[in-house]
This record gives sequence, structure tokens and C-alpha cells, in this order.
Amino acid sequence: MNLQEIKQMDETYYMNTFGQRRNVAFDHGKGITLYDTEGNAYTDFFAGIAVNALGYAHPAFVKALQEQAGKLLHTSSLYYIEPQARLAKMIVERSCADRVFLANSGAEANEGAIKLAKIYFYKQGKPERSEIITLTDSFHGRTLTTVAATGQPKYQKPYRPLTPGFVHVPIGDFDALAAAVTDKTAAILLEPIQGESGVHPCGEEYLQKVRALCNEKGIVLIFDEVQTGIGRTGKLFAYEHYGVEPDIFTLAKALGGGVPIGAVCAKQAFCAFEPGDHGSTFGGNPFSSAAGCAVLDIIEREGVVEHAAEVGAYLKEKLCALAKNYPDKIAEVRGVGLMLGVEYKGGLVKAVNDALFARHILCGNTATTLRILPPLIVTKEDVDAFIAALDDVTSNL
Ligand SMILES: *Cc1c(COP(=O)(O)O)cnc(C)c1O
Repeated sequence: MNLQEIKQMDETYYMNTFGQRRNVAFDHGKGITLYDTEGNAYTDFFAGIAVNALGYAHPAFVKALQEQAGKLLHTSSLYYIEPQARLAKMIVERSCADRVFLANSGAEANEGAIKLAKIYFYKQGKPERSEIITLTDSFHGRTLTTVAATGQPKYQKPYRPLTPGFVHVPIGDFDALAAAVTDKTAAILLEPIQGESGVHPCGEEYLQKVRALCNEKGIVLIFDEVQTGIGRTGKLFAYEHYGVEPDIFTLAKALGGGVPIGAVCAKQAFCAFEPGDHGSTFGGNPFSSAAGCAVLDIIEREGVVEHAAEVGAYLKEKLCALAKNYPDKIAEVRGVGLMLGVEYKGGLVKAVNDALFARHILCGNTATTLRILPPLIVTKEDVDAFIAALDDVTSNL
């Protein structure tokens, strides 16, 4: 089908929750390049919202998926599943977690983490410890409970009453967080670097204080690493930057390399789920689990995390140099590794992202900030070309 036919079908049959989509449908990709239905090439600096860590059609990844698809896609967790067990082992061996539960998305992983924190206290005979503190401008997903966790009224308004028990405090304000703690607090849930709201790092000192507070008050510390995990920040998990370990953390986005998957990862002391307490039909099925194993295998074999750290530092340096040349247009460059944001002044960012798209470069943007999240296999040459385009676009504003 050509773009016109796809658009017409979409507009007739699909529920539009996206607003105006970009005027393109992609047909296939290779590396960090996507090709549309009309044969045009695009350079991807957004990776399908931080999902496609290995880019497109990575040969070893495609082979692993084809092999698993030819064997088994799904059996249900009524039976033992080799890729499920292997992926859990791989995550545990590479992280602070001792056990893993596999889900199908970031929201579902966060739901699982929230349930795990609540049942942890319930099983100690303390069901009143059920409140969760999260941060304003956070993003934790679109299910009703994760919308309640998400500190952004725009996602909550039509769906009240929401799941009760969520309290929001401003990011970076440790005193506000400490003041929000009560004898009902079960957990603090946060993204080490907020993604969706425009790349806002919590910062090392803040996270260390939060860790100490949780230790002191017996509060469960949950990191939402759905976006920051799997190498995005130049470490396999973002918490490694800060000298703190969460009690529970969640993964999704890049873990499946494009195949839907989520993971709830917990230290042994917090693994309060027992048979019957939680579940998922698709969660950890052979196909998605094999995808996760292949992603972790490949990024290790090819040194992708170290590569992301190096190219990310190079990209940030170039962005900071660019920002210096446009002090009237660019307010700030933020982020770590290949999770970077450039905040533009005066609502210019939309024009920047539109101009990049016109040059067939894909990025994301919030109301103020250009979000840059390339596949982790992006090279310094790709970065040079991107910076040249961004420089040109910014100078023409
Ligand atoms: C994307 C995202 C989610 C939601 O993931 P879905 O797979 O869309 O449910 C949750 N938390 C963070 C930090 C995210 O970036």
C-alpha cells in the first residue's frame, strides 16, 4: 500500500489517540536508517521512543527471532519456559536484582512493581502501608494505576476516580519528598532520569538522599528504568551512575529490541509474590523472552553499552558547543549517554523538530525540549551529520 491508502484506512478504522501523525509510513529499516513506503530514507535519532537499541534489521537479532519463531511463540506459564528462565538469569547476573517477573510493557512492569511493594507490606501484616510517592512530571504508563502514579494531570483528568494512594512531589526537592513521607508510605517510585517530560535527571546527591531516607524509614525504593535501562544512559542500568541500588526496578522499551516485553526486577527481600498473587498470559512467553536474551547477548558481544557511553559523551559535547553559539535560542542541554535533551527558548522547539523531519531526521519533542534518543549503535559520523543539520536548522530559526 502507498502512504495515501494507509492514511485513509487508518483514519477510517483506527482509534486516534496520537493526534496528527507525521506524514510518513515506514516500510523497512537497516542500521539507523528507515525507508518509507515511497522509498525515501530517514535517519533515526529517536529509536521508536528509546526502543530500537540495535537499530533495524540487526542480522544476529533477526536470526535469533526467526529461530525462536520457528520453534515456539507461546506456551503459557503453566509450563517451564527456557527463554523465560534464561532472560531472568541474564538480568539477575547483570544487575542488583535477585529475581525477575516478565510482563508485556512498561506500564505493566510498573503495575507489577507497585503491586509487589504493596504486597510486601501486606504480608508483614501492615496493609495500611499502601501509599506510593512519585514525582511531578514523571511518566509511568497509561494503565489506570500507572496514570495515577504519573505526575501529570493531563493524563489523569478524564479518568477520575484514579487508583487512590499516590502522592506527588516536585523532582529534585528532597525536603518536599521527606515531608510527604508518612507512616502509610510503602514506596517511592521514580525515574532516575525523567524521559517523557523532557530529559530531567534526578541527580546523584538527590538519589543518594532518597536511598538513605528509604533505608531509614523502611520504604521500598522503586526505579522506573523503562526508558533509562538497557544501555540508554551509557550504563546497562542508570542506577549504576549514582552509587545507589533500588529495591525494585522495572525495564521495558529497549529490553525486547522492538518486541513487546517488560520486567519487574527485585532484590530477594522484596520478592513477596507467591503463587496466585500476580500473573500474565503473555508475560515472559518464549518469543519475547528470546528477544530479550538476544538483545542482552548482542549488546554485550558488540560492546554496545560502552559504545553508547562514548558516542553519547561525544554527542553531548557537540550539543553543548552548538548551544553556546545560540544563547538566544537554546536554554540548556541535559541528559546522560544517548538520552539527551536540548531545551529551546520561546517555543522554538516545534519548528526545530519539524525542520529536522523535513530533512528526514527523526527526533522527539516536548513543549520546550528536543528529545534525542538514537539507536545505541549510532556512530560518531552519524552524530557529525546530525549536528550539522541541527546547526543549520537552528541558525535558520
Ligand atoms: C515509556 C515509559 C513507560 C510506559 O511504557 P509502555 O510500554 O508504553 O507501557 C513507563 N515508564 C517510563 C519511564 C517510560 O519511558
